Amino acid sequence: MKVTEHIAQAEGSLFSFEILPPLKGQKIEDIYKVIDPLMEFKPPFINVTYHREEVIYKRLSNGLLEQKTVRKRPGTVGICAALQYRYKVDTVPHMLCGGFSKEDTENALIDLDFLGVKNIMALRGDSMKNERFFAPEADGHTYAKDLVGQIKAMNQGRYLDDELQNSAPTDFAIGVAGYPEKHFEAPSLNKDIEYLKEKVDAGADYIVTQLFFDNRKYFDFVDRCRKAGIEVPIIPGIKPLSTKQHLSFLPHFFKVDLPDELVKAVVDCKDNAAARQVGVEWGIQQAKELKAAGVPAIHFYSMGRPDNIASIAREVF
Ligand code: FAD
Repeated sequence: MKVTEHIAQAEGSLFSFEILPPLKGQKIEDIYKVIDPLMEFKPPFINVTYHREEVIYKRLSNGLLEQKTVRKRPGTVGICAALQYRYKVDTVPHMLCGGFSKEDTENALIDLDFLGVKNIMALRGDSMKNERFFAPEADGHTYAKDLVGQIKAMNQGRYLDDELQNSAPTDFAIGVAGYPEKHFEAPSLNKDIEYLKEKVDAGADYIVTQLFFDNRKYFDFVDRCRKAGIEVPIIPGIKPLSTKQHLSFLPHFFKVDLPDELVKAVVDCKDNAAARQVGVEWGIQQAKELKAAGVPAIHFYSMGRPDNIASIAREVF
């Protein structure tokens, strides 16, 4: 089923989460270990991210981070198929503009359609480590809205090759990313929301937000989106802070602010176990408030840590 159908049929906020494919050289069982403890909360769909490269960091004794190596996480399509079969759950593969020509995209969409996948999260992707700015493939998409347009065209039976016009249409629900604290490259939040509206006008059916730690930022973002004429569901994304190092890691990697109250509580923690507890408590309060406000679903960024999410879900769902 499509994410939008799950939302339409739900009586309250849905529980959902995303997982990362294992690093190259690891096994799919590593994914099952993340998912198994979360299945008791009955996620109707699970997102599987896509990564062209991943920089691994090592913390030095002086507290700074050293860049160690770059690895890949292939396997998004295969994992989606395996999860649908093993857990009887819908999956949402993330697809990027970066690294894909339009033909690569078309072929990947055909694979996903054959596998019975009904949802796609359409994203641009970040620049590669060796690029200063995002660079599309020679025949690829520059912005997520263009990828949305290609998926939408295939949903209408329009393929790249003129001879294939009126072929069997695909039937994907299309999700896109939204940023309550603005995408870091956007000149302003208003401009970012204008671009978000273009993604919706191109065919996006729903939005999932970047993680945030202050619910007011999400509520304000939803208000602004509605005023800008964006009417599709906006699913909040949250992630429990789980180590003291997250105080610098999360703002650096996700370009988000941490509220002073949370920062103070974590700074005062004597170790990471205490910081994790603060992060979980914060997540419980965030999720309870979002659920009480009637959000369509709460999307948890798992980052391979199901225990924190399970601790929150047990209190909220
Ligand atoms: P876009 O919507 O294309 O926007 C990119 C930038 O361009 C923004 O600053 C926007 O304001 C600007 N822009 C848009 N349209 C125009 C225009 N017409 N003219 C000028 N500027 C414009 N990354 C991964 O690599 N793998 C993942 O699996 C993944 N999953 C994610 C899931 C979620 C829910 C979120 C929020 C992010 C995810 N990301 C993932 C990160 C994402 O790829 C990056 O944030 C990326 O930098 C932007 O992607 P986007 O789809 O938002 O891009």
